[in-house]
Amino acid sequence: MGRFSGKVALITGSSKGIGRAIAVRFAQEGASVIINSRNNDEHVAETIRQVEETGAKVHFIKSDISKVDVVYAMVKESVEVFGKLDILVNNAGVEINAPFWEVTEKDYDTVMNINLKGMFFLTQAFVRYMMENNVVGVIVNNSSVHEELPFPNFTAYCASKGAMQMVMRNLAVELGPMNIRINNVAPGAIRTPINADLLSKPELLGTLQNNISLRRLGEPEDVAGVVAFLASDDAKYVTGSTYYVDGGLTFHYTEQ
Ligand code: NAD
Repeated sequence: MGRFSGKVALITGSSKGIGRAIAVRFAQEGASVIINSRNNDEHVAETIRQVEETGAKVHFIKSDISKVDVVYAMVKESVEVFGKLDILVNNAGVEINAPFWEVTEKDYDTVMNINLKGMFFLTQAFVRYMMENNVVGVIVNNSSVHEELPFPNFTAYCASKGAMQMVMRNLAVELGPMNIRINNVAPGAIRTPINADLLSKPELLGTLQNNISLRRLGEPEDVAGVVAFLASDDAKYVTGSTYYVDGGLTFHYTEQ
């Protein structure tokens, strides 16, 4: 019996990277999983393959989480397919690299609408589902060390992740009396497609690794393990917290 036996989990942005690792980890621990991404491509097929390999049930929803009606429909579809929904992982996120003075309205809207508005209204849809059905679930958000740390040339990204921190803290207070828990994981530098550019530059990678106490990039599975902990009853007294999964990047000490 896994920790998520009989549970249903919806993980946004789970066609690849950290989202895929979370979907597979939940499946390994007994959950039925709903995976999601904007496109139905070979990455989706690979995630489905990996989840099915565990013996778990999987359902794919192709949708763009930046639209409010879409995220409400996602909760409805999840419940229609598996009969209920227990766990929401707000994982999908994007970043756009540009100096502050060159950020366009379109870039700003893209980042904020996916990273912040998407998690905000999908969480709202999930909370309304729980209230209407008198059930209790748990929410885990994938924010970033950049909910705390500056990241030059990624100001909209940092704004979205900083805001995720306050949404999470606020909801911990508002939802706590209903026993609905919400926490963030804040990954550091993780080896995923979002970092393709960095991964192709050995000098940049070397400098970065010297600022990570554990001296290596994280793997998607490193994040998935902490998400699984927060979503499980092992964390039943944890709400309103950010868990850093960064190998010691955020509070690393550099020799002067
Ligand atoms: P990734 O690019 O590998 O995967 C992102 C996923 O989100 C994909 O499945 C993509 O299809 C999906 N997605 C993007 N826009 C979407 C939308 N509008 N609707 C639905 N799905 C959408 O990225 P990743 O590195 O796995 O990042 C996942 C999360 O982790 C993001 O929120 C990111 O900000 C956060 N994060 C990543 C790192 C890192 O180093 N990789 C560090 C800190 C935080």
